[in-house]
Amino acid sequence: MSDRATGTLRLDCLGSGNAFSHGQYWSGFLLDGRILLDCPPQTLAHLHKLDVTVDALDLVLLTHQHADHILGMDLLLLEATAGESRRQDSSTRIVGPPGIYDRVRGIVGGSSRLPDRSDVRLPWSEQAGETRIDVRVADGGGDIGIECVEVDHVPQFTSLGYRIRVGGKLVAYTGDTKICDAVYELADGADLLIAECGGGPPHMDWPDIFALREALPTSTAMLITHYDRRRAPDVSAIDGLTLAEDFASYEV
Ligand SMILES: [Zn+2]
Repeated sequence: MSDRATGTLRLDCLGSGNAFSHGQYWSGFLLDGRILLDCPPQTLAHLHKLDVTVDALDLVLLTHQHADHILGMDLLLLEATAGESRRQDSSTRIVGPPGIYDRVRGIVGGSSRLPDRSDVRLPWSEQAGETRIDVRVADGGGDIGIECVEVDHVPQFTSLGYRIRVGGKLVAYTGDTKICDAVYELADGADLLIAECGGGPPHMDWPDIFALREALPTSTAMLITHYDRRRAPDVSAIDGLTLAEDFASYEV
């Protein structure tokens, strides 16, 4: 968990790769032990590996409908409704762009593991861009403020990035996107920008990442995810730019 005494926030990398990477798990993160950023296929197994149970999750933020970002929802929902750590009188809010509930319904089928959108155990919020949600956490974990920003990924559906205020920090997450103004909007004032680098449209590519690094202040660290290690440059000489590693833990 994060360390309240020192004011640091813990970020665990559940995977750093994209749909075409070899030898990396699909991109996803756990922030402050309770906020899931996307839900790639391996999510439940990797949460267990971190000793994090599903009922510890206050929030799941889904960025868009592509399989490498949401296919873990099937088993996560099964655990949340029927597993050892199933939700009973507490809740995990699930946030995503318009259409995300129906997309997950298509994956899960008619199973009751996906309750109605308003079920108190697993309430869903479908958000457009330029909207906010405040998540009140009753057990003293600390409230969470979310800003949803529409990014430019593919034309078939809305994709979101998020600005997450928690524990006195601001963490921004691009989800999948081409380089666009929204990426700079997401990064504005952030302590950490988690940025995708899928490698060319409809994603960002390494020149976009380097341009971002040059443009952003040193107070905004950058962690690169959703990349293919086989094509990744050596960035060890660049301050404030880190390539995410599967299972690594970071301090914000
Ligand atoms: Zn995508």
